[in-house]
Amino acid sequence: MNDEIFDVVVVGGGPAGATAAHELARRGRRVLLLDRAGRVKPCGGAIPPRLIQDFQIPDELLVAKARCARMVAPSSHRVDIPIDNGFVGMVDRDRFDEWLRVRAQAAGAVRRIGKFVSLGLNADGLAEVHYTVRERHAQDEGLPRRVRARCVVGADGARSEVARQGGVPGAERTRYVFAYHEILKAPPPAQRPADYDDSRCDVYYQGRFSPDFYGWVFPHGDTLSIGTGSADKGFSLRSSVQRMREVCGLAGAETLRREGAPIPMKPLPRWDNGRDVVLAGDAAGVVAPASGEGIYYAMVGGQLAAEAAQAMLVSGNPAALRLARKKFMKLHGTVFRVLGVMQWFWYSSERRRERFVKICEDRDVQQLTFESYMNKRLVRKKPMAHVRIFLKDVGHLLGLARV
Ligand SMILES: Cc1cc2nc3c(=O)[nH]c(=O)nc-3n(C[C@H](O)[C@H](O)[C@H](O)COP(=O)(O)OP(=O)(O)OC[C@H]3O[C@@H](n4cnc5c(N)ncnc54)[C@H](O)[C@@H]3O)c2cc1C
Repeated sequence: MNDEIFDVVVVGGGPAGATAAHELARRGRRVLLLDRAGRVKPCGGAIPPRLIQDFQIPDELLVAKARCARMVAPSSHRVDIPIDNGFVGMVDRDRFDEWLRVRAQAAGAVRRIGKFVSLGLNADGLAEVHYTVRERHAQDEGLPRRVRARCVVGADGARSEVARQGGVPGAERTRYVFAYHEILKAPPPAQRPADYDDSRCDVYYQGRFSPDFYGWVFPHGDTLSIGTGSADKGFSLRSSVQRMREVCGLAGAETLRREGAPIPMKPLPRWDNGRDVVLAGDAAGVVAPASGEGIYYAMVGGQLAAEAAQAMLVSGNPAALRLARKKFMKLHGTVFRVLGVMQWFWYSSERRRERFVKICEDRDVQQLTFESYMNKRLVRKKPMAHVRIFLKDVGHLLGLARV
């Protein structure tokens, strides 16, 4: 057999896979980036400045910059949080992901459009990656292809086939929030609802829009994303978005796309199979609870998966693949745990959602929350503010503070 042999095959060309492929190619590895293409990832497209900085994202990819976030409570009480000294960037995923893939290719990654089908183990101990490529205009499943690799990065998103077939422990048991959004044409300035601001992200903490997550309106320049999510399968996300459109005065706006996708709720207990597979991004279950933020964490995960694969290739020791999860959890594990508790507690009833928005009136809470979102680190400048917020939080938790 004379299949091509790669050091690493990266399956999935979203933010996680494209970053992993870029990182490995930069290190001189022979890497194949395999993506099935053809579908834009459903996503609100909000990214923090830390991502823009760390991954050198050019300004031209930002279709909008949000400088304020509005939180809306069940009573319709609103809290506007100005984003001091910065902005939340908005990207359109078709252009953003493609730019990342092109960058990986420019660094030396071989890029191929094809659908991953199965994973096997070759007699010589290498992984066998089977995929199909479609002939132009063909309607069938596509032509079968096969390559061999010393390592496989599974970055094929939520419900990863690579994780399942690679035998990564716990991959079958991941739980999801389902998210759905509609991309609307932003109404021209003269016809905009009075409340629509194309430099503000609106977040609705209201049970009618989501019983356990939140609804959003994110500006994207000429378009906007209006959506919601829930882990409750009986809750109609489509009807909820319809209600949001009515409430926001956007019922008549032109709908360009309707789409949805699962968001994993918790990082998998293992990201590797102890032999030749390591996961990154949604495939590894890495989306921040409470916020649903996944792009930044997918890119960090892609980088760490690449580092772990490199360490494994250099040492020949598959245990090195474990480093990806270990390093990620060291960096972000605490934030994920805190956000998990926050979602579980504050998003669980109308009364708590009301209180949550109320707490966000506090200027220190605003600064701490945004600082940790924007820069991915906890502010330690104001220790007394932490103490005060903690006491206030406990007061709310115990029902001592009034809304
Ligand atoms: C409605 C919605 C709104 C969201 N809003 C935000 C937001 O505003 N900000 C934010 O940070 N996060 C948001 N997220 C989360 C974010 O989109 C994901 O966490 C992020 O895309 C994960 O990146 P990834 O590379 O791991 O996976 P994906 O982006 O899902 O990429 C997976 C890639 O794998 C490819 N693939 C899949 N199967 C195969 C196969 N068999 N063969 C070959 N290729 C394959 C796909 O084509 C895709 O390119 C949102 C998610 C949803 C669903």
